[in-house]
Amino acid sequence: MLDIKKIRADFPILNRKVNGHSLIYFDNAATSQKPQQVIDKIVEYYTLYNANIHRGVHALSQEATDLFEESREKVRAFFNIAHTKQVIFTSGNTHSINAVANGAHAFVKKGDEVILSAVEHHSNIVPWQMLCERVGATIKIIPVLDNGELDMATYHQLLNAKTAFVVVNHISNALGVTNPVKEIIDAAHQHGAMTLIDGAQSCGHMKIDVQALNADFYTMAGHKMCGPTGIGILYGKEDALNALPPYQGGGEMIDQVSFEKTTYAGLPHKFEAGTPNIAGGIALGAAIDYLNEIGMDDIAAYENELLIYGTEQIKTIPGAKIYGDVTDKAAVISFNVASLHPYDIGTIVDKLGVAVRTGHHCAQPVMERYQVPGTIRASFAFYNTKEEIDVMVQALQRAVNMLS
Ligand SMILES: *Cc1c(COP(=O)(O)O)cnc(C)c1O
Repeated sequence: MLDIKKIRADFPILNRKVNGHSLIYFDNAATSQKPQQVIDKIVEYYTLYNANIHRGVHALSQEATDLFEESREKVRAFFNIAHTKQVIFTSGNTHSINAVANGAHAFVKKGDEVILSAVEHHSNIVPWQMLCERVGATIKIIPVLDNGELDMATYHQLLNAKTAFVVVNHISNALGVTNPVKEIIDAAHQHGAMTLIDGAQSCGHMKIDVQALNADFYTMAGHKMCGPTGIGILYGKEDALNALPPYQGGGEMIDQVSFEKTTYAGLPHKFEAGTPNIAGGIALGAAIDYLNEIGMDDIAAYENELLIYGTEQIKTIPGAKIYGDVTDKAAVISFNVASLHPYDIGTIVDKLGVAVRTGHHCAQPVMERYQVPGTIRASFAFYNTKEEIDVMVQALQRAVNMLS
C-alpha cells in the first residue's frame, strides 16, 4: 500500500492552482511530474560540483564524473542490464531510437523488410522510414484489432527470411495497451531479425527486465519516469551495440584521432559524443532512487487500481467510448464522448484545473485506424488519486452538457 499523502507532498507542482482550481495532472503519458528529490539534485549539481566529466583531474570534475557514473549503475540495476557499458545516455527516447535507426544499415540491407506496429509513436516510425529509404528496404505493418490489441496472427505471417528488424512499443502511448513484446521478440529472433522495443511508456510504470525480454535494443525516456527532460537511455545487447556504428562523431566517443584515421572508444562512450546532460543524468539517478524507495510492484498495482476505477467512471458518461479497452494495459485511458471534438472538451476541463491530453498523441496512424480526429487521453501516475478521477469525471460531464 502506498502512502499517497506522503508521496503527494514530494511533488511541489501538485500544490499549484490552475485557473483558480487545484491542479489535477492527468497528462503523465506526455511527461511525469518531478519529486523535490529530483529537483534538488539538479540544483545541487549546479551549486556544488558543476564541471565537465571524464576529462579533468581536478576535484569537481572527478566528483561530477563519479556521480554521473553512479547514475549509470542505478539505471543498469533498475532495468536488470548485465553491464554498465550497455547503458547509453542519450537526450531522450527519440534520440535513442534515432541512434539505432541511423546505424541500422549494419543490419538492414536492400530488399529487406522492417516490421513496425500500427500503434507506434511518430518517433518510432519516421527514423525507420528514413532508414528504409536510405538502404532500399520495405516497411511492413502489424495491424491493430478493434480492441486495441495487435493482430498477432498477421504478425506471425509477416515474418519471413527478408525480415531484418522488428520494432514495436512496449505500451502504446495512444491507447495504453501493453503489447506482447516477449512473443514478438522471440518470433523475430526465430527469423534471424533484430528487435527494438520503445519503452517510453513502460519505464517508470512497471518492472522491466531487459535480459528476460531478450530485446536487442530497448529505449527509455528519463522525463517519463520522474527524471528531468533532456536525458534518455539506450540499452543494447553488447554484440548489437558493437555491431552498430555510431551516428554522431565528436569528443568523448573516440579512442585515437588523426586526419588519416579515427578509432572509436569502447562502450558506452562510442555513442556519447560531446558533453552529455550531466545534471540530467545525475538527477535521473535520484529519480530511480525515488521509484525504488516506493517500489515498482506497488506503483504498478496502485496505477492499475486507478485504471480500473477511471475506466468505470468514464463509462458512466453517456456516449463515452474508450479505445483500447482491454485488461492488459497501463493507466492510460484514450476516449471520446459521442461526436464531440476532443479539443473542445479538453479546453473546458482545463478551465476547471484538469490537465488531460487531446489530439493525435503523435500517433496519427492510430487515429486514422479508428477514424477519429483525435482522442481525449487521461493518463495516471502513482501520485494521482480516485478523488481526482471523480473531479475529472464531473468536469467532463459539465463539458459534455455545455457542448451538447
Ligand atoms: C513519449 C514517447 C516517445 C517520444 O519520447 P521523447 O521523450 O519525446 O523523445 C516515443 N514513444 C512513445 C511510446 C512515447 O510515449
